[in-house]
Amino acid sequence: MVMSATASGKKVGVVMTMGALHEGHVSLVEQCTGQVDVTVVTIFVNPTQFLPGEDFEKYPRDLDGDLDSISGLPVDFVFAPTAQEMYGESFSTTIQPPDVGKPLEGSHRPGHYEGVCTVVFKLLQAVPASVAYFGHKDYQQYLVIKKMAADLDLDSKIEVCPTVREPDGLAMSSRNRYLSESERKQALAISAALLAAKKSVADGCDDVDAIAKGIREQLVAAGISKIDYAAVVHAETLEEIASIDESSVALVAAYVGDTRLIDNMAL
Ligand code: AMP
Repeated sequence: MVMSATASGKKVGVVMTMGALHEGHVSLVEQCTGQVDVTVVTIFVNPTQFLPGEDFEKYPRDLDGDLDSISGLPVDFVFAPTAQEMYGESFSTTIQPPDVGKPLEGSHRPGHYEGVCTVVFKLLQAVPASVAYFGHKDYQQYLVIKKMAADLDLDSKIEVCPTVREPDGLAMSSRNRYLSESERKQALAISAALLAAKKSVADGCDDVDAIAKGIREQLVAAGISKIDYAAVVHAETLEEIASIDESSVALVAAYVGDTRLIDNMAL
């Protein structure tokens, strides 16, 4: 049916999610429905992007709740395949992610972006969308997918949408559901540290090490000591930079209790 929409010249947009939908996801769906003729939302907890020992088994799954969350929006199709439907019995072809997927998440979650690229490519085969919407919240993922789409001549335009935050600043995430009340308070330090970094840069600091150290110190002061990275890098390449300018981004991945959270902010 999506194929026939494409064939009849309608503009198809897709929002890919792992479900446990929150306002961040909804904002992507709203942007999509506002810009295309036919909106498709995919819901698939993709096993191949989880590393052994990560939270694949306990990842929140709530299809009915997800359908409720988007019931007020003009979504035309929801595609919620099973792993069997996506991968069958003997799946063995994968996509090697581009270089921008190597640092940060790439080095801390080896194989993660291979799983992401492969499933995004496959979902774009199932949903021939002219636009696919991704969140700034997963900034490196957006860059990886954008480069994959360019390198592999995909027909879909890759759009990025702003990070939606709780009123106190915490970036919305399906994984926030794991947080206890006290962890929820602790988690706030991540967005607060990024915001403080942004302010320091606005106040004139362009010292990469000082800003990265400041972020790390704020996390530690809040009791967040398991930090995968607190990095200040180039916003397009994610490579190291000598000094901060308007094309710099700060990214954090850290554990609050057992929950690994990520966030980022353009500086
Ligand atoms: P996920 O279900 O976590 O795989 O996310 C699906 C899509 O929603 C991805 O493109 C994410 O970047 C995006 N997303 C997740 N959280 C947010 C948020 N707080 N604000 C904006 N987009 C988000």
